[in-house]
Amino acid sequence: MSDVLESTQVVIEQALKRLGYGQDMIDLLKEPMRLLTVRIPVRMDDGSTVVFTGYRSQHNDSVGPTKGGVRFHPAVTEKEVKALSIWMSLKCGIADLPYGGGKGGVICDPRKMSFRELERLSRGYVRAVSQIVGPTKDIPAPDVMTNSQIMAWMMDEYSHIREFDSPGFITGKPIVLGGSKGRETATARGVVIMIHEALKLKNIPIEGARIVIQGFGNAGSFLAKFMYEAGARVIGISDVNGALYNKDGLDIPHLLDRRDSFGNVTNLYPKTISNEELLELDCDVLVPAAIENQITEENAPRIQASIIVEAANGPTTLEATKIITERGILLIPDVLASAGGVIVSYFEWVQNNQGYYWGEQEIDDKLRVMMIRGFENVYEIHLTRKVDMRLAAYMSGVRKMAEAVRYRGWV
Ligand code: GLU
Repeated sequence: MSDVLESTQVVIEQALKRLGYGQDMIDLLKEPMRLLTVRIPVRMDDGSTVVFTGYRSQHNDSVGPTKGGVRFHPAVTEKEVKALSIWMSLKCGIADLPYGGGKGGVICDPRKMSFRELERLSRGYVRAVSQIVGPTKDIPAPDVMTNSQIMAWMMDEYSHIREFDSPGFITGKPIVLGGSKGRETATARGVVIMIHEALKLKNIPIEGARIVIQGFGNAGSFLAKFMYEAGARVIGISDVNGALYNKDGLDIPHLLDRRDSFGNVTNLYPKTISNEELLELDCDVLVPAAIENQITEENAPRIQASIIVEAANGPTTLEATKIITERGILLIPDVLASAGGVIVSYFEWVQNNQGYYWGEQEIDDKLRVMMIRGFENVYEIHLTRKVDMRLAAYMSGVRKMAEAVRYRGWV
């Protein structure tokens, strides 16, 4: 099933049933409670006006305000944004953050826009959704092809609208504007912690472990750096143009040096392999860190990794999850593996609210505690309830939300 919303709904339903909830709870939580579609007119540099379509989806706010990134990408759809907001609820639930899930997106291609056009689009998006977002309502953050500069424009626009400084409106900001230390690297740090836990379970030492990473964006590139520094061998990486492979390990510092701001690097090398070939390389850990639906029932039987750690949102279909589980490959699902970003976003929001800022070490230590606790909870559900790791993660992720809904008397 490649429809990300439908496959999410299937697992949400299974999770709630296993937790003992009825159809009323399933009906409430399988769809976002609110979805806003907006049209954003943007004056382009050549004087023309282009009208962009954007979304903000809020899954459920029974636990607290909704939280999640805004992506700028040509393939954004309403369904995808809805699914992504549900996944954010699950991440927040697994990490035990006081948030529900939210997500936004704008259909656009930032690679083809100028800096000023991007600024106008970012500000236009905030004006369009301003009524339903805010530090105690719904807190945006970076996602695919949005970054700290875009967060800065969005925060500035929101502060103008509200007529007061509101750093807690958005996370992933530059440090000088109230961003948190460690936020930029947080998703990758979280993935590293999960890789360590998974390697321990499989009795594979990190030293020399063969790692393949699909995607060289924010998560993929920092992950490659940290794995390289930890003594693992990063034998394959890829970007949208293709993939690079070296069985003895790639020269990651060199590739990081040559990478552009969108994560492109393979176009600089004559000898590349395809993204499909990359996924099937013989390795210890495969990390899909790019986009959805990369591991499918078609290629899952040929995956040679012992461990798959999903740094991207939704990289594996449900059919592929079944095949991977049956083949004994240890899967660390997206809603657990990629929770590091929102965890440090939570720290950023807490620091903004209290006006007192923590050092990098404190952030790292707190992140580690939350990631490992999340992993242990999911793994225990997997063992005791005899469900696959994805269903275990969904059960862990939705449990608190369903309880909060009950207490509030909504269902
Ligand atoms: N966009 C990131 C995610 O998918 C981070 C969200 C956040 O920091 O709120 O988890």
